[in-house]
Amino acid sequence: MAQRAAALAARGRPAGLAVILVGDDPASSVYVRNKVKDCEESGIRSTLDRMPADTTQATLLARIAALNADPAIHGILVQLPLPPQIDAHAVIEAISPAKDVDGFHVASMTGQPGFRPCTPYGVMKMLEHAGAVLKGAEAVVVGRSNIVGKPQAMLLLQADATVTICHSRTRDLAAHTRRADVLVAAVGRAKMITGDMIKPGAIVIDVGMNRDAAGKLCGDVDFDSAREVAGWITPVPGGVGPMTRAMLLENTIEAAERAAG
Ligand code: NAP
Repeated sequence: MAQRAAALAARGRPAGLAVILVGDDPASSVYVRNKVKDCEESGIRSTLDRMPADTTQATLLARIAALNADPAIHGILVQLPLPPQIDAHAVIEAISPAKDVDGFHVASMTGQPGFRPCTPYGVMKMLEHAGAVLKGAEAVVVGRSNIVGKPQAMLLLQADATVTICHSRTRDLAAHTRRADVLVAAVGRAKMITGDMIKPGAIVIDVGMNRDAAGKLCGDVDFDSAREVAGWITPVPGGVGPMTRAMLLENTIEAAERAAG
């Protein structure tokens, strides 16, 4: 990616990412800082707008409109969650589809042209790297959020897997997960998927980011019991998280390349 960013800069069209942070949520501040640092390391120009927690929706929409019209900006990222007075859906849809590098537009989620959402896209890249055969495979996604579970299921479906989406109302979750050749956990509950819920040899991708009882970062999968059964498994930390960050850079560079023709 650094090479692609350098090639754009050499043409006088450096890739630019605008990051907007509304409020002072500590976790969001860390995420935003990491994204800006990633940009610096890979040669993407970035700007960071810090807006106060009482920012109105109209003010934020006006800022997005200005960035939509700015030719030096190729990607716009509004860090979620937003304060309660702002409708996140309206804000996301206000970002130009050409600059929606988080891939949060509804169109992206349904697999229409646009940018793929960073977390599910990173998961697909990992599956590709592991040589997973997805055609006809049983894929089970646990979680149905708009930013992870649903778009993940769509990308797996596009890759010709047979996809099941599980959620909090699913009866007998383990019966589903035990059938999975590819299991993606995106729930937000520490270590809830245990080894006995996994098909031997399965590919297990852990999107979850939680704290265990000791306050240590962990995933939705109980890594120690799952690794005894799984064929492939991603760790937390150091698995899906870094891939999500990398895919944001990839989408931004792709947006800049498209803009540069
Ligand atoms: P979310 O919006 O809270 O969605 C969680 C999903 O899990 C919901 O669909 C919920 O079902 C389902 N669920 C809750 N309890 C369940 C249970 N007992 N059995 C089965 N399903 C259950 O969360 P999210 O934004 O998708 O994030 C999920 C996790 O991924 C979090 O830990 C988050 O921190 C992490 N994450 C990581 C990255 C990364 O880059 N690594 C990126 C994004 C998110 P209902 O719909 O029925 O409520």
